Amino acid sequence: MSQEAVTPAHFIRKIVTQDVESKHTGKVITRFPPEPNGFLHIGHAKSICLNFGLAEEFGGDCHLRFDDTNPAKEEQAYVESIKADVEWLGFKWAGSVRYASDYFDTLYDYALHLIDNGNAYVCELSADEAREYRGTLKEPGKNSPYRDRSPEENRQLFEKMRAGEFEDGAAVLRAKIDMAAPNINLRDPILYRVRRLNHHQTGDTWCIYPTYDFTHGQSDAIEGVTHSLCTLEFEDHRPLYEWLIEHLPVPAQPRQYEFARLNLNYTVTSKRKLKQLVDDGHVEGWDDPRMPTISGMRRRGYTPLSLRNFCERIGVTRSEGVVDMSMLEHAVREDLDATAPRAMCVLNPIRVVLENYPENDVQTLSLPRHPKDESMGQREVTMSRELYIDRNDFEVEPPPKWKRLFLNGEVRLRGSYVIHCHDVVKDEAGNVVELRCTYDENTLGKNPEGRKVKGVIHWVSAADSVEAEVRLYDRLFQEENPAAQEDFTASLNLESLTVLRGARAEASLRRANVGDRFQFEREGYFAVDSSSSDDRVVFNRTVSLRDSWQKVKGKG
Ligand code: ATP
Ligand code: MG
Repeated sequence: MSQEAVTPAHFIRKIVTQDVESKHTGKVITRFPPEPNGFLHIGHAKSICLNFGLAEEFGGDCHLRFDDTNPAKEEQAYVESIKADVEWLGFKWAGSVRYASDYFDTLYDYALHLIDNGNAYVCELSADEAREYRGTLKEPGKNSPYRDRSPEENRQLFEKMRAGEFEDGAAVLRAKIDMAAPNINLRDPILYRVRRLNHHQTGDTWCIYPTYDFTHGQSDAIEGVTHSLCTLEFEDHRPLYEWLIEHLPVPAQPRQYEFARLNLNYTVTSKRKLKQLVDDGHVEGWDDPRMPTISGMRRRGYTPLSLRNFCERIGVTRSEGVVDMSMLEHAVREDLDATAPRAMCVLNPIRVVLENYPENDVQTLSLPRHPKDESMGQREVTMSRELYIDRNDFEVEPPPKWKRLFLNGEVRLRGSYVIHCHDVVKDEAGNVVELRCTYDENTLGKNPEGRKVKGVIHWVSAADSVEAEVRLYDRLFQEENPAAQEDFTASLNLESLTVLRGARAEASLRRANVGDRFQFEREGYFAVDSSSSDDRVVFNRTVSLRDSWQKVKGKG
């Protein structure tokens, strides 16, 4: 995909540019380091675009490295979904997929190195004791009674930890830094824990696992990463990151830079919370089109380019903010306006009979697939005596300024004739169930003589159209910031999904494939869902034609 012409100079781009110009950095190497404990969400897209984007821009490499140090929460299925999402966004990682667990042997050797140099020790304080010794933000911690063990003793104990001679939690390896450090991350942080857990990559090889802090920077160094970009919550970990790089015989000197997470209103961007929505059945799965996951948005009809453009536009800063959902929707609307073929689909059909149209006469009309892009060609739409239009496009007694069809009024059918309604058929309850109309045969491709018809509505032929299921999505949460609520699920929008089972789509859509995207004229953008079958096409509404978020806010 092309790099957009205007690339704003955010602070990380400036740093990398300077490093390259000053020759401090040769080849730029970045990494995207997901923990395989859930599906990726829109926040991860920001990080992916930043890391892969910078590597592309500077002719460098970006690695995909699974940060897999917590086997309790990780699964191979998440690994696969993450790879698929990165590829779908259009990025290629350099070399093969990497795993922090590839470096477990090296990390173990690094731990021994720290031990031998008197920079790490095996500590047997219980979790409660350790908490007490750690101190608080205001008060310094206290040295562990195990802190002054000799390197020899520590080596023996650490080897025992590895050999499985300690129960889970009975001992940890800690860096020996400073229990009085104002930054709590430097108060002898844990480097290794005993955990008898099967690991999705290393099986039962290990019963001790390195912590995130001990793994991340060293993995960066092993891979020759030059710029290690992470979110602001790791800012306080940077001194530890640097301390470890300084005290270990690592092959490179990566630098960590932090940027603000992406927060989006009316949704949540935390794998833990998204997992809860899935596990508790609030949504149908990680790829439910209402989810802010990459797989959910893909299923809903978002394009890779729309997400990349969105990520570029929101920028990269160090100040936390909340991005408006309408920006995301704008990005997809913009891309789909240019690329999605047009089609007609009547969401809430009402039957129209053209009384003066000959029975059994079927006319084939040719309509452009796209109003501006002729290269998309034409599609065929059939005109016949019986049609469907949308219920919402008809009123018996129209309100002022009504431009659509009404009793004793006229309207144009898009790409077809002007019709006039002279009667309605009602059911026993008094609901209008059919419109009796006539068509003006002199109005195909030209204005009627002597009068103006302003309104144009979409329609389909009754006999020829395909029955479709259309799923309309609304915001998943009622609250602008659900995560700020005591229970974020309390503000779930219970009407976030509306299923229309009897929609009628023009015949050309019978051949649509899963994932195909269309603009349904006058309605919005829709994508064919993976649950479609030969006799039932299911469409997801990606986004309506116009911004509906302003309205949402207005409602308070
Ligand atoms: P979550 O809280 O959703 O689990 P995480 O930070 O734990 O997110 P990781 O798998 O560790 O998820 O994240 C991989 C990378 O993506 C990290 O570098 C992380 O900083 C980045 N990232 C995660 N969430 C966001 C976000 N909302 N905005 C920008 N980057 C993010
Ligand atoms: Mg994380």
